[in-house]
Amino acid sequence: MDFRFTQEQEALRQEVRDWLRREIPARWIEMGVALWEENDEIWAIARDFERKLAAKGWLAPGYPSRYGGIDATPMEQAIVGEEKAYAGAPAMLSDVLAAGWVGPTILLFGTEEQKERYVGGIGRGELVFCLGYSEPEAGSDLAAVQTTAVEDGDHYIINGQKIFTSLAHRADYCWMAARTDRDAPKHKGISMFVVDMKTPGVTVRPLVNMLGFHEFNEVFFDNVHIPKENMVGEKNRGWYTLIAALNFERSVVYIPAANRRLIEELVSYARETPWEGGVLADNPLVRHKLAEMALENEVCRLLCYRVVWMQTRGMIPAYETSVSYLHTAELTRRLAHIAMEMLGLYGQLDKSSKWAPLKGAIKSLCLGALGLGIGGGTNEIQRNIIATIGLGLPRG
Ligand SMILES: Cc1cc2nc3c(=O)[nH]c(=O)nc-3n(C[C@H](O)[C@H](O)[C@H](O)COP(=O)(O)OP(=O)(O)OC[C@H]3O[C@@H](n4cnc5c(N)ncnc54)[C@H](O)[C@@H]3O)c2cc1C
Repeated sequence: MDFRFTQEQEALRQEVRDWLRREIPARWIEMGVALWEENDEIWAIARDFERKLAAKGWLAPGYPSRYGGIDATPMEQAIVGEEKAYAGAPAMLSDVLAAGWVGPTILLFGTEEQKERYVGGIGRGELVFCLGYSEPEAGSDLAAVQTTAVEDGDHYIINGQKIFTSLAHRADYCWMAARTDRDAPKHKGISMFVVDMKTPGVTVRPLVNMLGFHEFNEVFFDNVHIPKENMVGEKNRGWYTLIAALNFERSVVYIPAANRRLIEELVSYARETPWEGGVLADNPLVRHKLAEMALENEVCRLLCYRVVWMQTRGMIPAYETSVSYLHTAELTRRLAHIAMEMLGLYGQLDKSSKWAPLKGAIKSLCLGALGLGIGGGTNEIQRNIIATIGLGLPRG
């Protein structure tokens, strides 16, 4: 076991770090990330930045160069992701969602034409995707999707509703699951499709999240005709494609990097903030909490590296992504609460207040981190996967 990075990997990390330091737009930092999906100016900045990243091959570094990547290994890809997250680079969600989850799945299951069109489009920073998985009656039990896709000549006709569809109001395409066989057992009648969001019959309605932002949506499909060639993978075997996509979604190596940055900022805050004649850093409780968070975050990082290592070896992670995702989601929530405790009432201020410490990030983090243990499968579902696949327990 060798915990060191190679010289080439260290050089790549340094190159990405230096570039990010120069290129992250000042306006992005000034505006703060919380508003980015609903604010047009911030969205434009983020997309522009993504295109710059794409020009370097760093939007989707793991893709083959003909699709806009740099043929990076999973570890090199993880390094680029870590640096972007640590630096707080723009548009982590659209970057991660399309480039990190949809593209790699189409690379595995798509036709050459689909790869050129969608994977190439994502890698070049041209396309934004949303994920059409959840429905009003299908969340944790995702195989219960009711949206149907019925064959009609050289088309499928899609009818149904998706919910909590992040970015649908910004997306060019929806990567979605629909039922193609109503009589088959529920896991065996699903297929995956790419749907152009401009197709007649697609309606997007905003849902405002508890931060007060328009991040996700309801999406309605009313007799939406899509060409047959928009099916990705085999008909009725979409469940396996979907699981592969969810495994990419649960590979969250970038989150411990973002958390490390926050822990460093909290350490600086503790050093500088007056407390009982000294500074907050003198408080043994604060010191212990920060030490505990640094330790836990290191555990998360190593759990995420295990997934990357498996991907490097061509192994398919199963419960391992659930282990790292669950631990990371729960740690991020604890970290947000500890930060809130440290900041006291000031933690509730958002960035519009001149008194808000850490640019008002903690209020958004506290509320936003709750979503981390829900999107991509709730913490309970990750525990179920670990229990059944990891421990071999019978299904609950
Ligand atoms: C920030 C955010 C972004 C999202 N983005 C998207 C997106 O882009 N696209 C998309 O398709 N979806 C998205 N979702 C939806 C998300 O995938 C679902 O909310 C999630 O899968 C849970 O489904 P549900 O909300 O229907 O809850 P339910 O499935 O109804 O679950 C309710 C509660 O019951 C528990 N529960 C359910 N079944 C079990 C079980 N078998 N064992 C133990 N406990 C169980 C759950 O853990 C949960 O606590 C997003 C969600 C959030 C929070």
